[in-house]
Amino acid sequence: MDYEAFFKSRLQALQEEGNYRIFAELERRAGRFPNARQYLGDETRDVTVWCSNDYLGMGQNQAVLGAMTEALRSCGAGAGGTRNISGTNHYHVLLERELADLHHKEAALLFTSGYVSNFASLGTLAKMLPGCVVLSDELNHASMIEGIRHSRAEKCIFKHNDVEDLDRQLAAIDKDRPKLVAFESVYSMDGDIAPIAEICDVADKHGAMTYLDEVHAVGMYGPRGGGIAEREGLMDRLTVIEGTLAKAYGVIGGYIAASAALCDFVRSFASGFIFTTALPPAVAAGARVAVKHLKTSDQEREQQRRAVAEVRRRLDKVGIPHKPNPSHIIPVMVGDPVKCKVLSDILLDDYGIYVQPINYPTVPRGTERLRITPGPLHNGDDIDRLIKALSDLWSQCALSRAVA
Ligand code: PLP
Repeated sequence: MDYEAFFKSRLQALQEEGNYRIFAELERRAGRFPNARQYLGDETRDVTVWCSNDYLGMGQNQAVLGAMTEALRSCGAGAGGTRNISGTNHYHVLLERELADLHHKEAALLFTSGYVSNFASLGTLAKMLPGCVVLSDELNHASMIEGIRHSRAEKCIFKHNDVEDLDRQLAAIDKDRPKLVAFESVYSMDGDIAPIAEICDVADKHGAMTYLDEVHAVGMYGPRGGGIAEREGLMDRLTVIEGTLAKAYGVIGGYIAASAALCDFVRSFASGFIFTTALPPAVAAGARVAVKHLKTSDQEREQQRRAVAEVRRRLDKVGIPHKPNPSHIIPVMVGDPVKCKVLSDILLDDYGIYVQPINYPTVPRGTERLRITPGPLHNGDDIDRLIKALSDLWSQCALSRAVA
C-alpha cells in the first residue's frame, strides 16, 4: 500500500469538505488575558481570544502562578514516576483532598486530563462490574464514548437529556444486572444543561449508578464552584462526579470524586491511572490553589456572567443567531463548514478576533458554529469590537439574521 498517498488523500477530502483543522499559533500572555500574541512566520501580532475554555482566566491568577512557581522551585519539574512508583507527591494528595471536599465525597482521584479520567474510570467500571450495561447520553463527549467502547460492556444510547427514554431503556434491562448511567451537566457545544435530579430519580428507581461529567461546570456553578450538581443540591445523589482542572481552573488534569471504595477500585484497576506518569507537582499545586480560590471567590463568576449576558444582549440587538441556553457558552450558528471557517479566518485576519470554527466531527454536519465564551476579562471595548466585526461579516456574507 502507498501509505503516504493514503494519508494525503484523506487529508485532501477533509480540506474539500471544509473540515480540515488549522491551528492558530498563539502565545497567551499572563497578565494580559484575553489578549494573546499570534505567530505568523517571523511576524507576530496581538489578538483577542474569544473561544478559550479558561473560562475565568484562572490561568493568569497571581495566587495560582505563585503556587506553581514555588512548587516548581521546591519539587522540580516532573513527578518522577507513576503514582505507584515514586510519583505521588504531597501536592497530589492535597489536591485530591481539596477535590473530595469540593464535591462532598469521601475521596477523589487525579488523572493527567479530563479525557483520561473519563476514559479510564468509565472504561474500568464498565469492564469490571460483571455484566454491566452502560446507558450513555447520545451527546456525551468522545472521552466517555471511547471509555465505554473500550470496556466492551453492553451500551444503550438514550436520547439527549430524555429522561423518559432513559427510563424505558433501563426498564428493559434485567433488574439484577449492574447499570451505569453516564451523562454531562453542561454540554459543551450547545451549552444546554441536563435534568440531573430527574436522571438520578430514574437511575435510583432501576438501581443504576450515576456518572456525571461536570467538566464545563466545575469552578463555574454552585456556591463553591462544585458544578451544577452543587448548585442544585444534588451532589450526594451522584455515584461519581468527574471534572477537569483545565477549564475554569485554568491548569490541567482531570479527576473523579466518589466513595473511598470506588476511587480505590479505579486507582487499583484502571490502566489509564496506573501506567502513566503523575502530573507535575507544580501543576497539582496550582490547580489546588485555583480550586481553593473559587470555593470562596464569586467575583470571577459574577464578572463572567455579566460578560455573557452583555454579549447575548448585543447579539440579539444586531440580529445574529445564537442558541439560547442557560449556560455560559454562546454558540453562534452558521450551519455550513466552509462559511464557518471563512468567517473565523476573516475575524482573525481582519479584526484580530480569535474564535475557532467548530465543525464536524465536534458537532453534527449542518450545525457548524462559532462557539463564543465570554470571560471576566473581556471588557466593554472587546465586546464592542466583537459585535461590530460579527455584524459586518453577517452583512458581507449575506448570512441570515435572526429576528432581533
Ligand atoms: N469531558 C467533556 C464534556 C469535555 O468537553 C472535555 C474537553 O473538552 C473533556 C471531558 C476532556 O477534558 P480535558 O480537556 O481536561 O481533557
